[in-house]
Amino acid sequence: MRLSQQNLLQNKSFINNEWVSEQSGKTFEVTNPATGDVITRVANCTPKETEQAIEAATKAFEVWRKKTAKERSAIMRKWFNLVNDSRNDLALLMTTEQGKPLAEAKGEITYGASFIEWFAEEARRVYGDVIPTPLNDRRIVVIKQPIGVVAAITPWNFPISMITRKISPAIAAGCTVVLKPAAQTPLSALALAYLSKEAGFPDGVINIITSDNAAEIGKVMTEHPLVQKFSFTGSTGVGKMLMQQCASTVKKVSLELGGNAPLIVFDDANIQQAVKGALASKYRNAGQTCVCANRIYVQDQIYNQFIQEYKKAVTSLKVGEGTQPGVEIGPLIDEKAIEKINRLVHEAVGKGAEITTGGNNHMAGKLFFQPTIVENCNQEMALSKEEIFGPVSAIYKFDTEEEAIRFANDTEYGLASYFFTQNLARAWRVAEALDYGIVGINEGVVSHAEAPFGGMKESGIGREGSKYGIEEYVEIKYLCLGGM
Ligand code: NAP
Repeated sequence: MRLSQQNLLQNKSFINNEWVSEQSGKTFEVTNPATGDVITRVANCTPKETEQAIEAATKAFEVWRKKTAKERSAIMRKWFNLVNDSRNDLALLMTTEQGKPLAEAKGEITYGASFIEWFAEEARRVYGDVIPTPLNDRRIVVIKQPIGVVAAITPWNFPISMITRKISPAIAAGCTVVLKPAAQTPLSALALAYLSKEAGFPDGVINIITSDNAAEIGKVMTEHPLVQKFSFTGSTGVGKMLMQQCASTVKKVSLELGGNAPLIVFDDANIQQAVKGALASKYRNAGQTCVCANRIYVQDQIYNQFIQEYKKAVTSLKVGEGTQPGVEIGPLIDEKAIEKINRLVHEAVGKGAEITTGGNNHMAGKLFFQPTIVENCNQEMALSKEEIFGPVSAIYKFDTEEEAIRFANDTEYGLASYFFTQNLARAWRVAEALDYGIVGINEGVVSHAEAPFGGMKESGIGREGSKYGIEEYVEIKYLCLGGM
């Protein structure tokens, strides 16, 4: 891989502003999912290095928390500029280890950097409160202080933005961080760490531990007494387990977990808008996002019209290696992902669904799947219950608004939802009735640094981004001033 800044390609863990190998030199492979080629090998760290990083972060906390918000903000701003300036290299690195098309990777760098910028600004707005007193000789004051050392674990599907969405609010508040990226995409994380050092963060403020043994690193992070807060983005199953582990030391937790997003097209929708929204929501990152439209409900009267337009759009999607010009759908992350899609599609067909577009592995390579549409789906199929995490649209027909809402809420997940209508009264009614943390109305792409991202029910706890995001990293302290 030829980068204009070759130093962005790092292969050791980043502890206390230094590049650290596993003690006995153990490494693991990072591969390109489009070709299967090994890109490099990365330090395979253990609990020992994780503890080292936690200790470094603990020391750094005493330095970092004492900086003024303005000082922290200035360093973050430098980091933001460096990430933006390195956008092309970072995007190439991301496409090579994760597979997404280069244009999407560039979009993710911009999106990821926007959290650094936003929280650099928010650092200066962590206001307290003065509360009217019930007794004349007292005053009630509330201050907010950084929680302490934060441990975090992130997934492979957004190798940069899932990291900046956690690290930025944490360090803006004055916390320090030890983060483990997904084993499939550690290179983007290490490149971010390299740029953080260039930006001038003090030793130990940001630490990145690479390992392919997530369970043993996760155990240290969730049980270590010096870690005050644990933040996780990943699957609901793993999130539940890590939350349980955190109970042993009563850590504060933030969880961004799985989704099963419904996308409803009402008969009063603007069809072009609905097709565009569904396509963007479903096929971005080859369908591997937590906010992907997992179930597309289309009302009877406009069903044929919508499907006709949607098929046209899906059939024209270009599949291939993410570095090739014009490619819109890259490979899936691994063979397990391909197996899962095949299992879900075949189970649905066995229960009466019909594949009307695609449906097979794609000739571009072992990890590529054809953009697919499956019609006649129903609530009994595994397709409607599990995250598909691939380029497969599952389409359901519905009759009334009540039915659509009932179907949409019929899941333990509650992250993102979408619907399309031109009727204002319906827009309010349905938005209020959906049990989801995020509702896209006539819009299929909804993530912004300025907006609160997070789920209800088993999709998680807490919010990332927005003015609410920094609240996850502060303690509220009540000062009672007596004898006034
Ligand atoms: P995953 O298997 O839960 O992995 C996510 C992270 O957890 C990875 O770093 C992984 O490490 C680590 N991990 C796995 N098992 C662990 C364990 N026993 N202890 C500690 N850490 C462990 O999820 P995934 O399949 O990679 O990611 C996709 C999932 O993330 C989907 O469910 C998606 O919806 C969700 N997601 C949610 C959001 C959101 O904002 N709500 C955003 C993006 C993705 P290794 O990579 O080393 O295995």
